[in-house]
Amino acid sequence: MNAHLITVGDELLIGQTVNTNAAYIGEKLKENNIDLDKVSVIGDNEDKMMACFKEAYDSSDLVIVTGGLGPTHDDVTQKCVVKFFNTKLEMNEQVLSDITERFKKRGMDVSPTNRDQALVPKIAKVIRNSRGTAPGLWIEKKGKIFTCIPGVPYEMKEMIDSYIIPNLREKIGKVEYYSVTTNLLTTGIPESILYEQLGNLDELLEGGRLAFLPSQYGVKLRLTLQGSTEEEAKDKLIQVEQKIRGKAGRYIYGRNYDSQEQVIGRLLDDRGLTIAVAESCTGGLISSRITNVAGSSKYFERGFITYSNGSKVEHLSIDEDMVHKYGAVSLEVARLMADGVRKVSGTDLGLGVTSSNGFENRL
Ligand code: ATP
Ligand code: MG
Repeated sequence: MNAHLITVGDELLIGQTVNTNAAYIGEKLKENNIDLDKVSVIGDNEDKMMACFKEAYDSSDLVIVTGGLGPTHDDVTQKCVVKFFNTKLEMNEQVLSDITERFKKRGMDVSPTNRDQALVPKIAKVIRNSRGTAPGLWIEKKGKIFTCIPGVPYEMKEMIDSYIIPNLREKIGKVEYYSVTTNLLTTGIPESILYEQLGNLDELLEGGRLAFLPSQYGVKLRLTLQGSTEEEAKDKLIQVEQKIRGKAGRYIYGRNYDSQEQVIGRLLDDRGLTIAVAESCTGGLISSRITNVAGSSKYFERGFITYSNGSKVEHLSIDEDMVHKYGAVSLEVARLMADGVRKVSGTDLGLGVTSSNGFENRL
């Protein structure tokens, strides 16, 4: 099954709202082996929307539209659906009673504008909205599915999770192949060097796919493998991951949503080690990240911000001549700071940081 996602709203085009709906739906479709071929972003404009509906419906088995379903003048999705499917609006009693109930709970009368939200295209099945007033629409025609859901992210999520994905699963029935994905998180190596280090990717991946995703924290490797059963896909993933680790394992610190500070915390905790930190240019950032992890008091003893040369000498017992000799931002002084903070704090480990820039993930 292939899909086209249409996200609607001027605010998406002008950068006022980040298109998080596209990210969420993209991930959900991927998890369910539905190929999302295209994501369109269009403004609140009828002509553009009609053209986009046509393109999407002609080329895809599944069209998902988010946004513009509400009751205000700039919400034109419903109008376009009526035109596109050459249908008409009719009052849906279920939706009307949902809306009335919602307003009653808040001690309010239903306004005419909200009452109109119970008018839905005759051709559509209604997706009830437990978190707002605009109902979702589900249309099946000529073996294709066309569905519209509100743009508000929590309403969208609710409908995707509790209605759209379960219904699509039923339609797809038995999938032809299974796909599994993991994200390996690397640090300390730029994208281009990592790419070279992995060597011939065709040989390495055995039919799988690998994406390099650099950010300020390092390069994320998104690895995807397919198999005719879930088991087979998982086995392949494990094998390819081992090969990647064989070539670049020392740079991989975690996977998926791990953070560096969580991983470091786990390593320290498992080994029963304690740490103290002395920072200069990072101004406490490293200590802040380490202590943001729940349970960090088990291993984090203290942190110093020794910004001036004098404070390095005073608090970390560093020989002032060494600071002058090597310069405050130098590997030698970072080592002395690490050693100094470990001694004054009585910890197993000391970490010294003199500079915050110095590494580029995207060379
Ligand atoms: P409602 O009836 O609640 O107004 P709606 O379908 O009309 O729903 P919109 O008016 O298009 O939805 O958008 C409502 C809110 O949801 C806005 O704050 C908008 O910025 C946000 N939103 C819309 N589309 C997206 C999107 N693709 N990603 C993230 N947020 C979005
Ligand atoms: Mg709206």
